Amino acid sequence: MLLTAPKIHDGIHWLPDGSVIETADDSTIIAIHGAEKLSEATHYDGILAPGFVNVHCHLELSHMKGMIPEHTGLVPFLQQVMQHRFGFTDEQKTTAREQAFDEMLRNGIVAVGDICNTNDTLPQRASGQMHFHSFSEAIGFNEMPTKQFGYAVQVYDAFAAQQSDTHILRQSIVPHAPYSVSYALFKLINGHYADSIVSIHNQESAAEDELYIKKEGAVRTLLSSLGIDDAFFHPSGKSSLQTYMRWLDATHPLILVHNTYTTEADITAVQRLHEHVYWCLCPNANMYIENRLPDINLLLRDANNICIGTDSLSSNHQLSILAELQTIKAQYPNIDWSTLLRWATWNGARALQMQHVVGKIEEGKKPGIVQITDIDGTWNARRVI
Ligand SMILES: [Zn+2]
Repeated sequence: MLLTAPKIHDGIHWLPDGSVIETADDSTIIAIHGAEKLSEATHYDGILAPGFVNVHCHLELSHMKGMIPEHTGLVPFLQQVMQHRFGFTDEQKTTAREQAFDEMLRNGIVAVGDICNTNDTLPQRASGQMHFHSFSEAIGFNEMPTKQFGYAVQVYDAFAAQQSDTHILRQSIVPHAPYSVSYALFKLINGHYADSIVSIHNQESAAEDELYIKKEGAVRTLLSSLGIDDAFFHPSGKSSLQTYMRWLDATHPLILVHNTYTTEADITAVQRLHEHVYWCLCPNANMYIENRLPDINLLLRDANNICIGTDSLSSNHQLSILAELQTIKAQYPNIDWSTLLRWATWNGARALQMQHVVGKIEEGKKPGIVQITDIDGTWNARRVI
């Protein structure tokens, strides 16, 4: 099949005008041609780009769409999630998950980093319609987190037992956040596999740093309201990131999610210690919960490994990578579309270590192709291949 459009983005940059993509029947890219093939090609309006990579999502929380009010701040948000997450039937949860998965497919998402506290998304992985890296998320803020780690291993093992001939299915055990995972649990996660991808909710609220710097603030109040004895915890006097980054070996690629309160000193420190650091932005969730975006110009200047996630429907109105890019573009008009599309495709594929298959329109890869129309107006994205 031959396809073309007024603009084609290959995942890294715009291709020359008049370029034509040739794909095989199984949608593998065979070649990129010049204008000599234009007359034989199917012409699409707008932009053609590789399928989107959603680096951070919690598909299992899809049933919580619209349950939690916006702009409460992180701590009240978390309290509401804990309160509401379990009051649903299995059928309600299954239906919501299926609808959310279909929504991601419709919006051109071809690969996902899925955060899991359960094995609820096994059927979506088995469908063979999307590449998955499932992050089995460990939570436990105490001195002896053996039980919590054991549970994360169980979830991991069920995902690891699932195989596919056609799609990438991978998994790793990861910490939820610095305020919900103790040093001891970080060390167990660190030792599970030396080179596993570690994804973590990082500096999503100012209170997280307050806990690490002074053992004060709203997160500490949250812990005590949950009956968690934090006597074992000693503040480091440094930000959360500058503390826990030393608890993970540099062999682990890191995906730091949110980064709403990350500073220049944090960026410099973590990049000095860790070779592979990806900054995953979930702007619509940030606006939903904290009504504030990270300093993206700062991340852009010091770290060009930025990728995009939707987070879950408990803190978002939709699961659309293009909707996330629109939010960034509205507040950061200085960032051009080529850069934003790169974050949404190639950088995401590298963050999830899937760049040999998706993220770029290149001979031999099978990235899926998305048509984006009216990117500066009433934008829309849909999968064409
Ligand atoms: Zn999240």
